[in-house]
Amino acid sequence: MQTDSISSSIKTGRCDVCVVGAGVAGATLAAYLGRRGVRVALIERDLSEPKKIVGELLQPGGVLELERMGLASVLEGIDAQPVEGYALINDGVQLRIPYPESSGKPLSGRGFRYGRFIQNLRRAAEDSPNVTVIEGRVRGFVEDVSAGRVVGVRYVERTENREQAILAPLTVVCDGCVSSLRNKLCNSEKKVSGYFLGLLLEDCRLPCPNHGHVFIGNDSPFLSYPVSSRHVRVLIDFPGRMPKLKGEAFGHSLLDQVGGRLPQEMRAAFAAAVAKRDFQAMPNIVMHANPAQVPGAVLLGDSLNMRHPLTGGGMTVALTDVRTLGNLLLQIGDFSREEKVSEAVRSYYAYRHKLNATINILASALYGVFTQPDLNEACFAYLQRGGKYAAGPIALLSGISRDIRLLIRHFAAVAWFGAYRAVKPLPTPARVFKAYCILRQAIRIIDPLLAAEYPTFGTRMALKLARIVFP
Ligand SMILES: Cc1cc2nc3c(=O)[nH]c(=O)nc-3n(C[C@H](O)[C@H](O)[C@H](O)COP(=O)(O)OP(=O)(O)OC[C@H]3O[C@@H](n4cnc5c(N)ncnc54)[C@H](O)[C@@H]3O)c2cc1C
Repeated sequence: MQTDSISSSIKTGRCDVCVVGAGVAGATLAAYLGRRGVRVALIERDLSEPKKIVGELLQPGGVLELERMGLASVLEGIDAQPVEGYALINDGVQLRIPYPESSGKPLSGRGFRYGRFIQNLRRAAEDSPNVTVIEGRVRGFVEDVSAGRVVGVRYVERTENREQAILAPLTVVCDGCVSSLRNKLCNSEKKVSGYFLGLLLEDCRLPCPNHGHVFIGNDSPFLSYPVSSRHVRVLIDFPGRMPKLKGEAFGHSLLDQVGGRLPQEMRAAFAAAVAKRDFQAMPNIVMHANPAQVPGAVLLGDSLNMRHPLTGGGMTVALTDVRTLGNLLLQIGDFSREEKVSEAVRSYYAYRHKLNATINILASALYGVFTQPDLNEACFAYLQRGGKYAAGPIALLSGISRDIRLLIRHFAAVAWFGAYRAVKPLPTPARVFKAYCILRQAIRIIDPLLAAEYPTFGTRMALKLARIVFP
Protein backbone atom coordinates (compact mmCIF):
# COMPACT_ATOMS: atom_id res chain seq x y z
CA MET A 1 0.00 0.00 0.00
CA GLN A 2 1.30 3.47 -0.83
CA THR A 3 1.17 6.37 1.60
CA ASP A 4 -0.88 8.51 -0.84
CA SER A 5 -3.80 6.11 -0.68
CA ILE A 6 -4.12 5.88 3.10
CA SER A 7 -5.16 9.35 4.14
CA SER A 8 -8.41 9.17 2.17
CA SER A 9 -9.39 5.54 2.93
CA ILE A 10 -8.33 4.80 6.51
CA LYS A 11 -7.79 6.45 9.86
CA THR A 12 -4.10 7.02 10.65
CA GLY A 13 -1.98 7.76 13.72
CA ARG A 14 1.65 8.78 14.10
CA CYS A 15 4.45 7.95 16.53
CA ASP A 16 8.27 7.60 16.62
CA VAL A 17 8.39 3.80 16.73
CA CYS A 18 5.65 1.32 15.87
CA VAL A 19 6.10 -2.10 17.54
CA VAL A 20 4.21 -5.11 16.16
CA GLY A 21 3.55 -7.83 18.74
CA ALA A 22 3.48 -7.47 22.55
CA GLY A 23 5.30 -10.70 23.42
CA VAL A 24 8.67 -10.89 25.19
CA ALA A 25 10.53 -8.69 22.69
CA GLY A 26 7.82 -6.17 21.71
CA ALA A 27 6.40 -5.41 25.16
CA THR A 28 9.90 -5.02 26.67
CA LEU A 29 11.05 -2.70 23.88
CA ALA A 30 7.93 -0.54 24.22
CA ALA A 31 8.42 -0.23 28.01
CA TYR A 32 12.16 0.50 27.64
CA LEU A 33 11.74 3.21 24.98
CA GLY A 34 8.49 4.65 26.35
CA ARG A 35 10.05 5.35 29.76
CA ARG A 36 12.81 7.29 28.02
CA GLY A 37 10.65 9.69 26.03
CA VAL A 38 10.15 7.84 22.74
CA ARG A 39 6.54 7.85 21.44
CA VAL A 40 5.66 4.20 20.85
CA ALA A 41 2.57 2.49 19.37
CA LEU A 42 2.46 -1.16 20.48
CA ILE A 43 0.03 -3.30 18.46
CA GLU A 44 -0.90 -6.76 19.75
CA ARG A 45 -3.51 -9.04 18.18
CA ASP A 46 -4.67 -10.53 21.52
CA LEU A 47 -4.09 -8.81 24.87
CA SER A 48 -5.58 -11.61 26.99
CA GLU A 49 -3.17 -13.81 28.98
CA PRO A 50 -1.51 -16.28 26.59
CA LYS A 51 -1.65 -19.98 27.51
CA LYS A 52 1.55 -21.23 25.91
CA ILE A 53 4.20 -23.76 26.93
CA VAL A 54 7.06 -21.57 25.65
CA GLY A 55 9.34 -19.10 27.43
CA GLU A 56 9.04 -20.32 31.03
CA LEU A 57 12.68 -20.45 32.16
CA LEU A 58 14.57 -17.18 31.98
CA GLN A 59 18.31 -17.74 32.24
CA PRO A 60 20.38 -15.48 34.55
CA GLY A 61 21.69 -13.67 31.45
CA GLY A 62 18.08 -12.63 30.66
CA VAL A 63 17.44 -11.56 34.27
CA LEU A 64 20.55 -9.34 34.04
CA GLU A 65 19.28 -7.78 30.80
CA LEU A 66 15.98 -6.85 32.51
CA GLU A 67 17.90 -5.36 35.44
CA ARG A 68 20.12 -3.32 33.09
CA MET A 69 16.98 -1.91 31.42
CA GLY A 70 15.46 -1.02 34.81
CA LEU A 71 12.66 -3.54 34.29
CA ALA A 72 13.46 -6.23 36.89
CA SER A 73 10.15 -5.53 38.65
CA VAL A 74 8.30 -7.44 35.89
CA LEU A 75 9.56 -10.63 37.58
CA GLU A 76 7.64 -9.77 40.75
CA GLY A 77 4.08 -10.75 41.65
CA ILE A 78 3.90 -13.70 39.24
CA ASP A 79 4.94 -16.49 41.64
CA ALA A 80 8.25 -16.75 39.74
CA GLN A 81 10.62 -19.37 41.17
CA PRO A 82 14.35 -18.75 41.53
CA VAL A 83 16.39 -21.21 39.46
CA GLU A 84 19.89 -21.77 40.85
CA GLY A 85 21.44 -24.09 38.29
CA TYR A 86 20.94 -27.29 36.32
CA ALA A 87 20.64 -30.95 37.21
CA LEU A 88 21.68 -33.35 34.46
CA ILE A 89 20.25 -36.84 34.89
CA ASN A 90 21.83 -39.54 32.74
CA ASP A 91 20.00 -42.86 33.09
CA GLY A 92 19.33 -42.15 36.76
CA VAL A 93 22.81 -40.74 37.61
CA GLN A 94 22.46 -37.14 38.77
CA LEU A 95 24.90 -34.26 38.30
CA ARG A 96 24.18 -30.83 39.78
CA ILE A 97 25.83 -27.77 38.22
CA PRO A 98 25.22 -24.39 39.92
CA TYR A 99 25.01 -21.17 37.95
CA PRO A 100 28.07 -18.88 38.13
CA GLU A 101 28.55 -16.22 40.77
CA SER A 102 28.95 -12.49 40.32
CA SER A 103 30.86 -10.46 42.98
CA GLY A 104 30.65 -13.43 45.36
CA LYS A 105 26.83 -13.77 44.95
CA PRO A 106 25.30 -16.71 43.10
CA LEU A 107 23.30 -15.64 40.04
CA SER A 108 19.84 -17.04 39.48
CA GLY A 109 17.35 -17.45 36.67
CA ARG A 110 13.54 -17.53 37.02
CA GLY A 111 10.88 -20.09 36.25
CA PHE A 112 7.36 -18.75 35.63
CA ARG A 113 4.25 -19.15 33.48
CA TYR A 114 4.82 -17.43 30.13
CA GLY A 115 1.36 -15.81 30.21
CA ARG A 116 1.88 -14.20 33.61
CA PHE A 117 5.28 -12.83 32.61
CA ILE A 118 3.88 -11.41 29.36
CA GLN A 119 1.00 -9.69 31.17
CA ASN A 120 3.51 -8.02 33.52
CA LEU A 121 5.61 -6.87 30.55
CA ARG A 122 2.50 -5.50 28.84
CA ARG A 123 1.51 -3.65 32.03
CA ALA A 124 5.02 -2.16 32.21
CA ALA A 125 4.59 -0.95 28.62
CA GLU A 126 1.10 0.40 29.23
CA ASP A 127 2.19 2.24 32.39
CA SER A 128 5.05 3.93 30.54
CA PRO A 129 4.40 7.49 29.48
CA ASN A 130 4.46 7.79 25.67
CA VAL A 131 3.28 4.19 24.95
CA THR A 132 -0.09 3.60 23.29
CA VAL A 133 -1.19 -0.03 23.39
CA ILE A 134 -3.60 -1.10 20.65
CA GLU A 135 -5.36 -4.46 20.44
CA GLY A 136 -5.40 -5.23 16.75
CA ARG A 137 -4.02 -7.58 14.12
CA VAL A 138 -1.39 -6.12 11.81
CA ARG A 139 -2.09 -7.05 8.21
CA GLY A 140 0.85 -5.56 6.37
CA PHE A 141 3.21 -2.65 5.90
CA VAL A 142 2.44 0.81 4.60
CA GLU A 143 5.17 1.64 2.11
CA ASP A 144 6.45 4.73 0.42
CA VAL A 145 7.10 2.96 -2.85
CA SER A 146 8.97 5.80 -4.53
CA ALA A 147 11.43 6.10 -1.61
CA GLY A 148 11.63 2.31 -1.08
CA ARG A 149 10.76 2.67 2.62
CA VAL A 150 8.39 1.09 5.09
CA VAL A 151 6.55 3.99 6.72
CA GLY A 152 4.14 2.15 9.01
CA VAL A 153 1.62 -0.68 9.26
CA ARG A 154 -2.03 -1.43 8.46
CA TYR A 155 -4.04 -3.14 11.19
CA VAL A 156 -7.58 -4.05 12.15
CA GLU A 157 -8.56 -3.19 15.70
CA ARG A 158 -10.11 -6.09 17.64
CA THR A 159 -13.30 -4.28 18.61
CA GLU A 160 -13.88 -2.46 15.31
CA ASN A 161 -13.73 -4.28 12.03
CA ARG A 162 -12.14 -1.32 10.27
CA GLU A 163 -8.69 -1.06 8.77
CA GLN A 164 -6.47 1.63 10.27
CA ALA A 165 -2.84 2.65 9.93
CA ILE A 166 0.02 3.80 12.13
CA LEU A 167 2.80 5.77 10.48
CA ALA A 168 6.25 5.82 12.06
CA PRO A 169 9.88 6.45 11.00
CA LEU A 170 10.63 2.92 12.28
CA THR A 171 8.50 -0.23 12.51
CA VAL A 172 9.91 -2.95 14.78
CA VAL A 173 8.50 -6.35 13.88
CA CYS A 174 8.25 -8.61 16.97
CA ASP A 175 5.47 -10.95 15.81
CA GLY A 176 7.17 -14.12 16.99
CA CYS A 177 7.94 -17.52 15.51
CA VAL A 178 5.03 -17.60 13.04
CA SER A 179 5.70 -14.04 11.86
CA SER A 180 3.57 -13.00 8.91
CA LEU A 181 5.71 -9.89 8.24
CA ARG A 182 9.24 -11.30 8.19
CA ASN A 183 9.23 -12.31 4.50
CA LYS A 184 9.89 -8.79 3.34
CA LEU A 185 12.69 -8.24 5.87
CA CYS A 186 14.85 -11.37 5.72
CA ASN A 187 16.08 -14.27 3.63
CA SER A 188 16.08 -16.81 6.43
CA GLU A 189 15.07 -20.45 6.19
CA LYS A 190 13.17 -22.16 8.98
CA LYS A 191 14.01 -25.74 9.92
CA VAL A 192 11.73 -27.77 12.20
CA SER A 193 13.84 -30.41 13.96
CA GLY A 194 10.95 -31.87 15.95
CA TYR A 195 8.40 -30.98 18.61
CA PHE A 196 8.28 -30.38 22.34
CA LEU A 197 5.26 -31.81 24.09
CA GLY A 198 4.38 -29.84 27.24
CA LEU A 199 2.75 -31.16 30.41
CA LEU A 200 2.11 -29.29 33.64
CA LEU A 201 2.76 -31.29 36.83
CA GLU A 202 0.94 -30.24 39.99
CA ASP A 203 2.47 -30.46 43.47
CA CYS A 204 5.55 -32.21 42.16
CA ARG A 205 8.86 -32.37 44.01
CA LEU A 206 11.92 -32.15 41.77
CA PRO A 207 15.08 -34.15 42.62
CA CYS A 208 16.96 -30.82 42.84
CA PRO A 209 14.45 -28.15 43.91
CA ASN A 210 14.87 -24.78 42.15
CA HIS A 211 16.91 -26.27 39.31
CA GLY A 212 16.33 -26.85 35.63
CA HIS A 213 16.50 -30.59 34.91
CA VAL A 214 17.69 -32.24 31.69
CA PHE A 215 17.06 -35.98 31.42
CA ILE A 216 19.40 -37.64 28.94
CA GLY A 217 20.24 -41.23 28.03
CA ASN A 218 19.69 -43.49 25.05
CA ASP A 219 16.32 -41.92 24.19
CA SER A 220 15.75 -38.30 23.24
CA PRO A 221 16.10 -35.72 26.03
CA PHE A 222 13.36 -34.11 28.08
CA LEU A 223 13.32 -31.16 30.46
CA SER A 224 11.60 -30.07 33.64
CA TYR A 225 11.74 -26.93 35.74
CA PRO A 226 9.56 -25.12 38.30
CA VAL A 227 7.14 -22.56 36.81
CA SER A 228 5.25 -21.64 40.00
CA SER A 229 5.30 -22.61 43.68
CA ARG A 230 2.94 -25.51 42.81
CA HIS A 231 3.77 -26.39 39.22
CA VAL A 232 6.57 -28.01 37.27
CA ARG A 233 6.76 -27.89 33.48
CA VAL A 234 7.86 -31.00 31.62
CA LEU A 235 8.88 -30.66 27.95
CA ILE A 236 9.40 -33.92 26.06
CA ASP A 237 11.34 -33.99 22.81
CA PHE A 238 9.77 -35.74 19.81
CA PRO A 239 12.31 -35.65 16.97
CA GLY A 240 10.92 -35.49 13.43
CA ARG A 241 7.15 -35.63 13.21
CA MET A 242 4.50 -34.15 15.45
CA PRO A 243 3.23 -36.84 17.87
CA LYS A 244 -0.41 -37.96 17.53
CA LEU A 245 -1.78 -36.69 20.81
CA LYS A 246 -5.15 -38.45 20.62
CA GLY A 247 -6.01 -41.98 21.73
CA GLU A 248 -5.30 -44.13 24.76
CA ALA A 249 -2.11 -45.57 23.25
CA PHE A 250 -0.33 -42.21 23.37
CA GLY A 251 -0.90 -41.82 27.12
CA HIS A 252 0.35 -45.38 27.72
CA SER A 253 3.50 -44.81 25.65
CA LEU A 254 4.25 -41.61 27.61
CA LEU A 255 3.91 -43.44 30.92
CA ASP A 256 6.18 -46.23 29.65
CA GLN A 257 8.87 -44.26 27.88
CA VAL A 258 9.04 -41.04 29.91
CA GLY A 259 7.42 -42.02 33.23
CA GLY A 260 9.84 -44.94 33.52
CA ARG A 261 12.85 -42.61 33.23
CA LEU A 262 11.59 -40.20 35.91
CA PRO A 263 12.78 -40.30 39.50
CA GLN A 264 10.31 -41.83 41.93
CA GLU A 265 9.25 -38.49 43.48
CA MET A 266 7.97 -37.16 40.11
CA ARG A 267 6.06 -40.24 38.91
CA ALA A 268 2.66 -39.74 40.58
CA ALA A 269 2.39 -36.09 39.43
CA PHE A 270 3.45 -37.13 35.92
CA ALA A 271 0.82 -39.92 35.79
CA ALA A 272 -1.85 -37.44 36.98
CA ALA A 273 -0.86 -34.95 34.24
CA VAL A 274 -1.00 -37.68 31.59
CA ALA A 275 -4.45 -38.74 32.84
CA LYS A 276 -5.67 -35.13 32.45
CA ARG A 277 -4.57 -35.25 28.78
CA ASP A 278 -3.94 -31.51 28.78
CA PHE A 279 -1.14 -31.77 26.20
CA GLN A 280 0.26 -28.94 24.10
CA ALA A 281 2.89 -29.39 21.41
CA MET A 282 5.12 -26.73 19.85
CA PRO A 283 7.55 -27.06 16.93
CA ASN A 284 11.26 -26.70 17.68
CA ILE A 285 12.35 -24.29 14.97
CA VAL A 286 15.88 -23.25 14.12
CA MET A 287 16.24 -20.12 12.01
CA HIS A 288 19.56 -18.32 11.63
CA ALA A 289 19.36 -14.53 11.33
CA ASN A 290 19.77 -13.39 7.76
CA PRO A 291 18.17 -9.96 7.61
CA ALA A 292 17.68 -7.88 4.46
CA GLN A 293 18.07 -4.16 5.08
CA VAL A 294 14.75 -2.46 4.33
CA PRO A 295 14.68 1.22 5.32
CA GLY A 296 12.05 1.97 7.96
CA ALA A 297 11.69 -1.57 9.40
CA VAL A 298 13.63 -4.03 11.55
CA LEU A 299 13.12 -7.54 12.96
CA LEU A 300 13.52 -8.45 16.65
CA GLY A 301 12.99 -11.65 18.66
CA ASP A 302 11.79 -14.93 17.14
CA SER A 303 10.73 -13.20 13.93
CA LEU A 304 14.47 -12.67 13.25
CA ASN A 305 16.25 -15.61 14.85
CA MET A 306 15.35 -18.93 16.55
CA ARG A 307 17.35 -21.71 18.15
CA HIS A 308 16.49 -25.11 19.68
CA PRO A 309 14.61 -24.51 22.97
CA LEU A 310 16.60 -27.21 24.86
CA THR A 311 18.79 -24.63 26.63
CA GLY A 312 16.03 -22.05 27.25
CA GLY A 313 17.93 -19.24 25.52
CA GLY A 314 15.24 -17.58 23.37
CA MET A 315 14.10 -14.93 25.83
CA THR A 316 17.69 -14.06 26.78
CA VAL A 317 18.50 -13.47 23.09
CA ALA A 318 15.31 -11.40 22.65
CA LEU A 319 16.06 -9.25 25.73
CA THR A 320 19.71 -8.79 24.68
CA ASP A 321 18.49 -7.59 21.28
CA VAL A 322 15.94 -5.25 22.86
CA ARG A 323 18.66 -3.55 24.90
CA THR A 324 21.07 -3.40 21.95
CA LEU A 325 18.55 -1.90 19.52
CA GLY A 326 16.91 0.21 22.23
CA ASN A 327 20.21 1.88 23.21
CA LEU A 328 21.03 2.65 19.57
CA LEU A 329 17.57 4.18 19.04
CA LEU A 330 17.83 6.27 22.21
CA GLN A 331 20.93 7.95 20.78
CA ILE A 332 18.96 9.22 17.75
CA GLY A 333 16.84 11.83 19.53
CA ASP A 334 15.02 13.10 16.44
CA PHE A 335 13.34 10.17 14.65
CA SER A 336 12.60 12.22 11.54
CA ARG A 337 16.29 11.87 10.59
CA GLU A 338 15.85 8.84 8.34
CA GLU A 339 19.56 8.24 7.79
CA LYS A 340 20.18 8.10 11.57
CA VAL A 341 17.38 5.55 12.00
CA SER A 342 18.79 3.37 9.20
CA GLU A 343 22.27 3.64 10.68
CA ALA A 344 20.99 2.44 14.09
CA VAL A 345 19.33 -0.58 12.43
CA ARG A 346 22.51 -1.41 10.49
CA SER A 347 24.62 -1.25 13.68
CA TYR A 348 22.14 -3.44 15.54
CA TYR A 349 22.20 -6.14 12.84
CA ALA A 350 26.00 -5.97 12.63
CA TYR A 351 26.57 -6.15 16.38
CA ARG A 352 23.81 -8.43 17.74
CA HIS A 353 25.21 -11.72 16.46
CA LYS A 354 28.41 -11.19 18.50
CA LEU A 355 26.27 -11.16 21.65
CA ASN A 356 23.99 -14.06 20.74
CA ALA A 357 26.14 -16.51 18.75
CA THR A 358 27.09 -18.57 21.84
CA ILE A 359 23.44 -19.05 22.89
CA ASN A 360 22.38 -19.95 19.34
CA ILE A 361 25.22 -22.41 18.76
CA LEU A 362 25.11 -24.04 22.19
CA ALA A 363 21.38 -24.82 21.90
CA SER A 364 21.69 -26.92 18.73
CA ALA A 365 25.17 -28.25 19.56
CA LEU A 366 24.01 -29.60 22.92
CA TYR A 367 20.92 -31.12 21.33
CA GLY A 368 23.20 -32.81 18.76
CA VAL A 369 25.52 -34.09 21.51
CA PHE A 370 22.67 -35.41 23.71
CA THR A 371 21.18 -37.37 20.81
CA GLN A 372 24.48 -39.14 19.87
CA PRO A 373 25.18 -41.89 22.47
CA ASP A 374 29.02 -41.66 22.42
CA LEU A 375 29.10 -37.88 22.61
CA ASN A 376 26.36 -37.90 25.22
CA GLU A 377 28.44 -40.16 27.48
CA ALA A 378 31.58 -38.09 26.82
CA CYS A 379 29.79 -34.82 27.64
CA PHE A 380 28.33 -36.20 30.88
CA ALA A 381 31.72 -37.58 32.00
CA TYR A 382 33.41 -34.27 31.05
CA LEU A 383 30.96 -32.23 33.15
CA GLN A 384 31.30 -34.71 36.02
CA ARG A 385 34.96 -33.69 36.34
CA GLY A 386 33.59 -30.44 37.86
CA GLY A 387 35.66 -27.27 38.39
CA LYS A 388 36.40 -25.40 35.15
CA TYR A 389 35.01 -28.34 33.13
CA ALA A 390 31.50 -27.57 34.41
CA ALA A 391 31.92 -23.84 35.16
CA GLY A 392 32.67 -22.84 31.53
CA PRO A 393 29.70 -24.68 29.97
CA ILE A 394 27.20 -23.45 32.60
CA ALA A 395 28.44 -19.84 32.19
CA LEU A 396 27.67 -20.18 28.46
CA LEU A 397 24.29 -21.86 28.99
CA SER A 398 23.16 -19.26 31.53
CA GLY A 399 23.89 -16.45 29.05
CA ILE A 400 26.45 -14.93 31.44
CA SER A 401 29.44 -15.62 29.17
CA ARG A 402 29.05 -14.79 25.47
CA ASP A 403 32.66 -15.76 24.65
CA ILE A 404 32.62 -17.84 21.47
CA ARG A 405 36.22 -19.02 22.00
CA LEU A 406 35.20 -20.49 25.35
CA LEU A 407 32.38 -22.36 23.61
CA ILE A 408 34.66 -23.72 20.87
CA ARG A 409 37.27 -24.77 23.46
CA HIS A 410 34.78 -26.73 25.57
CA PHE A 411 33.07 -28.30 22.55
CA ALA A 412 36.42 -29.44 21.15
CA ALA A 413 37.51 -30.69 24.58
CA VAL A 414 34.33 -32.82 24.91
CA ALA A 415 34.96 -34.33 21.44
CA TRP A 416 38.63 -35.11 22.25
CA PHE A 417 37.65 -36.48 25.64
CA GLY A 418 35.16 -38.81 23.90
CA ALA A 419 37.87 -39.94 21.45
CA TYR A 420 40.36 -40.48 24.30
CA ARG A 421 37.82 -42.60 26.21
CA ALA A 422 37.17 -44.62 23.06
CA VAL A 423 40.84 -45.66 22.58
CA LYS A 424 41.40 -46.60 26.25
CA PRO A 425 43.05 -48.71 27.62
CA LEU A 426 45.03 -49.59 24.44
CA PRO A 427 44.49 -48.16 20.95
CA THR A 428 43.43 -51.11 18.74
CA PRO A 429 42.46 -50.35 15.09
CA ALA A 430 38.75 -50.77 15.98
CA ARG A 431 39.06 -48.34 18.91
CA VAL A 432 41.00 -45.79 16.85
CA PHE A 433 38.26 -45.98 14.20
CA LYS A 434 35.59 -45.41 16.85
CA ALA A 435 37.53 -42.39 18.15
CA TYR A 436 37.73 -41.04 14.59
CA CYS A 437 33.95 -41.48 14.19
CA ILE A 438 33.30 -39.56 17.43
CA LEU A 439 35.44 -36.64 16.22
CA ARG A 440 33.69 -36.72 12.82
CA GLN A 441 30.26 -36.64 14.50
CA ALA A 442 31.34 -33.65 16.58
CA ILE A 443 32.57 -31.77 13.50
CA ARG A 444 29.31 -32.49 11.68
CA ILE A 445 27.34 -30.99 14.56
CA ILE A 446 29.39 -27.81 15.08
CA ASP A 447 30.41 -27.00 11.48
CA PRO A 448 27.04 -25.68 10.15
CA LEU A 449 26.31 -23.92 13.44
CA LEU A 450 29.57 -21.96 13.46
CA ALA A 451 29.32 -21.27 9.72
CA ALA A 452 25.88 -19.65 10.24
CA GLU A 453 27.11 -17.21 12.90
CA TYR A 454 29.53 -15.04 10.92
CA PRO A 455 32.75 -16.92 11.85
CA THR A 456 36.11 -15.15 11.91
CA PHE A 457 38.73 -15.88 9.22
CA GLY A 458 40.59 -18.18 11.65
CA THR A 459 37.43 -20.20 12.45
CA ARG A 460 36.57 -20.51 8.73
CA MET A 461 40.06 -21.88 7.98
CA ALA A 462 39.88 -24.30 10.94
CA LEU A 463 36.48 -25.56 9.70
CA LYS A 464 37.87 -26.02 6.17
CA LEU A 465 40.71 -28.13 7.52
CA ALA A 466 38.37 -30.16 9.74
CA ARG A 467 36.15 -30.93 6.71
CA ILE A 468 39.20 -32.33 4.87
CA VAL A 469 40.33 -34.51 7.79
CA PHE A 470 36.77 -35.61 8.72
CA PRO A 471 34.89 -35.73 5.39
C1 LIG B 1 8.62 -25.33 23.17
C2 LIG B 1 9.39 -24.07 23.44
C3 LIG B 1 9.86 -23.81 24.71
C4 LIG B 1 10.60 -22.66 24.95
N1 LIG B 1 11.10 -22.45 26.21
C5 LIG B 1 11.88 -21.38 26.46
C6 LIG B 1 12.44 -21.17 27.75
O1 LIG B 1 12.22 -21.94 28.68
N2 LIG B 1 13.24 -20.07 27.92
C7 LIG B 1 13.48 -19.18 26.92
O2 LIG B 1 14.21 -18.21 27.13
N3 LIG B 1 12.93 -19.34 25.69
C8 LIG B 1 12.13 -20.40 25.44
N4 LIG B 1 11.56 -20.56 24.21
C9 LIG B 1 11.71 -19.48 23.21
C10 LIG B 1 10.88 -18.23 23.60
O3 LIG B 1 9.56 -18.60 23.86
C11 LIG B 1 10.93 -17.20 22.47
O4 LIG B 1 12.27 -17.01 22.08
C12 LIG B 1 10.33 -15.86 22.90
O5 LIG B 1 8.98 -16.03 23.31
C13 LIG B 1 10.42 -14.89 21.72
O6 LIG B 1 9.76 -13.69 22.02
P1 LIG B 1 9.04 -12.86 20.85
O7 LIG B 1 8.59 -11.61 21.48
O8 LIG B 1 9.89 -12.82 19.65
O9 LIG B 1 7.77 -13.76 20.44
P2 LIG B 1 6.48 -14.06 21.30
O10 LIG B 1 6.78 -14.04 22.73
O11 LIG B 1 5.88 -15.30 20.70
O12 LIG B 1 5.49 -12.83 20.98
C14 LIG B 1 4.99 -12.55 19.69
C15 LIG B 1 3.73 -11.69 19.87
O13 LIG B 1 3.34 -11.16 18.60
C16 LIG B 1 1.91 -11.21 18.51
N5 LIG B 1 1.54 -11.17 17.09
C17 LIG B 1 1.82 -12.13 16.15
N6 LIG B 1 1.35 -11.74 14.95
C18 LIG B 1 0.76 -10.51 15.13
C19 LIG B 1 0.09 -9.61 14.25
N7 LIG B 1 -0.06 -9.86 12.94
N8 LIG B 1 -0.38 -8.45 14.76
C20 LIG B 1 -0.22 -8.15 16.09
N9 LIG B 1 0.40 -8.99 16.97
C21 LIG B 1 0.89 -10.14 16.49
C22 LIG B 1 1.57 -12.52 19.23
O14 LIG B 1 0.21 -12.56 19.62
C23 LIG B 1 2.55 -12.49 20.40
O15 LIG B 1 2.00 -11.85 21.52
C24 LIG B 1 10.82 -21.72 23.92
C25 LIG B 1 10.33 -21.97 22.64
C26 LIG B 1 9.63 -23.14 22.39
C27 LIG B 1 9.13 -23.41 21.00
